[in-house]
Amino acid sequence: MSLPPSVTSELLAKLTGMVVSTSGRAYPVTEVYTGEEVVDLPQSDPADVQTAYAAARAAQAVWASWPLKRRLAVMKRFHALLLEQGLIVADLMQVETGKARRMAFEETCDVLMVTSHYIKAAPRILKERKHGGVVPLMSTSTEVRIPKGVIGLISPWNFPFATSLSDAMPALIAGNGVVLKPDNKSTLNVAYGVGLLYEAGMPAGLVQIVCGEGPDIGAALIENADYVMFTGSTATGRVIGAQAGQQLIGCTLELGGKNPLIVLDDANLDEVIAGTVTATFLNTGQACMHIERIYVSERRKDEFTRRFVEAVQAIRVAGAYDFSPDMGSLVSVPQRERVQAHVEDAVAKGATVLTGGKPRPDLGPAFFEPTVLTGVTPDMVLARTETFGPVTAIYPYTSVDAAVAMANDTEYGLNASVWGGDRRAAEAVGRRIEAGNINVNDGLAASYASKKSTSGGFKASGVGSRHGDAGMLKYTDVQNVAVLKKQVLTNPPDTDWTKQVDKTIKGLRFLRKLGIR
Ligand code: NAD
Repeated sequence: MSLPPSVTSELLAKLTGMVVSTSGRAYPVTEVYTGEEVVDLPQSDPADVQTAYAAARAAQAVWASWPLKRRLAVMKRFHALLLEQGLIVADLMQVETGKARRMAFEETCDVLMVTSHYIKAAPRILKERKHGGVVPLMSTSTEVRIPKGVIGLISPWNFPFATSLSDAMPALIAGNGVVLKPDNKSTLNVAYGVGLLYEAGMPAGLVQIVCGEGPDIGAALIENADYVMFTGSTATGRVIGAQAGQQLIGCTLELGGKNPLIVLDDANLDEVIAGTVTATFLNTGQACMHIERIYVSERRKDEFTRRFVEAVQAIRVAGAYDFSPDMGSLVSVPQRERVQAHVEDAVAKGATVLTGGKPRPDLGPAFFEPTVLTGVTPDMVLARTETFGPVTAIYPYTSVDAAVAMANDTEYGLNASVWGGDRRAAEAVGRRIEAGNINVNDGLAASYASKKSTSGGFKASGVGSRHGDAGMLKYTDVQNVAVLKKQVLTNPPDTDWTKQVDKTIKGLRFLRKLGIR
């Protein structure tokens, strides 16, 4: 298979040249559909990470001094450039991750939506807030938002462009610099996006790219950061959170999931089947919010299962740089082996494969069939561990309470989906599930695409959040500037404390009565 025409050797040289690296070491980037090597990606050493932070810090001082309006003008140009060139990003993403083109295109839209949201919302979010101070009429207190400095941003391979650029956007607009460490497998598309930021007028050096395996440069990345934005597995999140804690810097950890979907008895199965297929198999099942557990009542289980399996068998799986396939490849052979091992473990312990269950070497080295299981029991690995592949299991339930209890029986709490004809009843069921995203009559996109609302994982699915006001404020420190018109707070040395206490209590009572404090 030949690479997309946009992926030229000149482009690859430009993108790999953006990595801060003096190590002489390289990671071989392969085209996932064929396993053929595409380019050597330079690797960074801890010293390179330090160099990257120093450069980002110098540029950040300039960037933060620009008025917000000027920074937003850069982001408006970036938005326009990405609208024009998004399909080149999709080409690179497909080469590096093997995802279907529809998904790669949608991922570029995520960055467009986040950018456009914060262009509109930033002036309100970052505005200084003046309050009456401690002494009414005599004092003021103003909350001022100051950029943290340079953010260490670590992203995974599954949604590399969104988890890099969308999470960098509020940080940058708020006046920060960024040192970005994408996964080795998925750096080129991210570098292309960073190139667009520079083309749009961002000061030289503000966003730096470093590359390497976590254990090699992870510590240096956090050591030099003023805040860490991490998306990835729960296991890595624990390591990063511990180091950030040691350094007393803040972090956001967006981690894994084992997301449930409940079909209520009055749900419209036409909608449920189509929605569940999408929510389960999008991005070849490598989405943190995708569905890996489906709960259906005993009464509707047979009909649901028959129709769902039929729909899954109709999924077109292929590797192509066009929009025809429904589903692409898994990201790598080790990922395919992990998914296969989960299915084989379940089958060995008595589960039934209703469809799929096998690799597709005829399509490429990392392809795996869309797979539906039943008869999954708690002793099987895939009952509780995130599989992160095109595999789901159907579980019958006898009552809604039992379905909710099963949905909550997990260490994770990222996303949950509930389908029902009575929307209020479905929403009430959804609110009982311990997850940061609840989607009623949708699998995941409804909540994820609502950029005005803040969301993040409950339980082992994360710490902190993204999107909404909190998704930008987290990248700032708040400074409380309090001004007294006249010094009335210091008691003179001869203060009569009996009278003073009495006066203070009366004053506080009066303020409460007037509703001032
Ligand atoms: P991972 O944790 O192995 O790697 C993620 C990133 O962290 C990579 O860039 C990796 O190189 C880096 N890394 C690894 N060890 C590190 C260390 N010690 N210090 C610093 N960086 C380190 O995760 P993955 O397998 O690449 O990604 C898939 C996981 O990400 C899944 O669990 C998925 O659910 C999760 N995810 C979560 C969200 C979300 O928003 N909650 C979104 C996408 C993916």
